Amino acid sequence: MNLRHLMAIGVAKTASRMSRLIGKQGQNLPGTIGLRLSPGILRDLSAQVKQHTVMVCGTNGKTTVNNLLADVTEQNGYQVVVNRTGANQRDGITGSFILASRGGKIKADLAFMESDEAWSRYTIRDLPVDLMIITNLFRDQLDRYGEIDTTVNFLLEAISHKPDMKLLVNGDDALCVALAEKSGRPYDTFGVEEPVLDHLADETREATYCPMCDQKLHYDFYHFSQLGHFRCSCGFQRPDIDYKITDVDLSDGLKFHVNGQAFAVPYRGFYNIYNMAAVIAAMDILDLRRDDLARQLNQFKPRAGRNQEFVIGNTRLILNLAKNPAGFNQNIQSLLGDDTAEKVLIGINDNEPDGRDVSWLWDVAVDRLKQTDVRDIITTGARGADMALRLKYDGIESHYVPQLTKAIDQLLADEPEVGYVLVNYTLLDTAYEYLTSLARRTQ
Ligand SMILES: [Zn+2]
Repeated sequence: MNLRHLMAIGVAKTASRMSRLIGKQGQNLPGTIGLRLSPGILRDLSAQVKQHTVMVCGTNGKTTVNNLLADVTEQNGYQVVVNRTGANQRDGITGSFILASRGGKIKADLAFMESDEAWSRYTIRDLPVDLMIITNLFRDQLDRYGEIDTTVNFLLEAISHKPDMKLLVNGDDALCVALAEKSGRPYDTFGVEEPVLDHLADETREATYCPMCDQKLHYDFYHFSQLGHFRCSCGFQRPDIDYKITDVDLSDGLKFHVNGQAFAVPYRGFYNIYNMAAVIAAMDILDLRRDDLARQLNQFKPRAGRNQEFVIGNTRLILNLAKNPAGFNQNIQSLLGDDTAEKVLIGINDNEPDGRDVSWLWDVAVDRLKQTDVRDIITTGARGADMALRLKYDGIESHYVPQLTKAIDQLLADEPEVGYVLVNYTLLDTAYEYLTSLARRTQ
């Protein structure tokens, strides 16, 4: 570790402390400063990770998978570096290493870095990644990445920088499997072996056409979005899955088997089974200690906005992030399975992290809301009126309350038994903080 690196780390950490004093937190600022003062800093620090560095990519679920991997390996006695807050561009990843360093040294066995897909091809050059996980590839943040093919190309470029890196992908996702095939590398897969949900026939899907030959792809069945059992006359098909998910039971939390081993977790959302399976598979591939994995997964608390529950007076509120059609449709699926849900609040902003273009709202299968027991829908946020219009187009009444906190007050006004709050990125923190303060006040 040379003097320049030590100085860069010192300045970056001081800046981080000062920005926390004025109420800002995050890992981007120390990363930005560290890289400016010492461009080799990320390479230098990450090279000190003793065993494995894992990069987690994919449209949905990467924060959950990344944090879950960090949590369970820490509980198994490993020292870990992780970008837990989801700062997943190069500055954020660098900042995570800087803040975890002591005297210019990283003392860690493992590093878990979730990465923005577009940034992965740059960041990976400075990271000794030996396993890349791709959770799924859904349509997301249109105006940042353009089409899904662009994202696939970003990831292929990232993979090309690491000839010995292993790949773990969602075997139910034709786009993930095609990407793995195109990379020319051996890869492992996880996937659900049997039909679980009755599929959403009217959902927008990627991969209607074969990603290898452009003919129409045949699906035996869908799980959700484009995830399912696919095959094409050209020979491209869902592979024989390495980590087979079976015996899925969604009636009380989530119960399932992975290669015969039983798991049960107390939270909801079918998509979380994919997240769990990715973690279980990664730990097996890297041969990490995992004797107590079933119990540890059971105790995991999802991050803010991932099926988080708040009890406020007589109402149980569930907060969820809904930032793209696939995520949104999943939330509607959860509502279909919950006959206690009385009210729903939908918040849509269009700030840069949300994506300026909200045309994706038209790809959400909102008419499925008619099949739920929901009696009142409120929309909020800068584009809440667009959401209301989207609902109206499918004959669903709602009312628009521009300010989020006032909208939450209205949701709670007549004490529904259960309410759902679905918001996109830049509304999530405010929603979380407000609900937390309300829950504390009424305890
Ligand atoms: Zn084909």
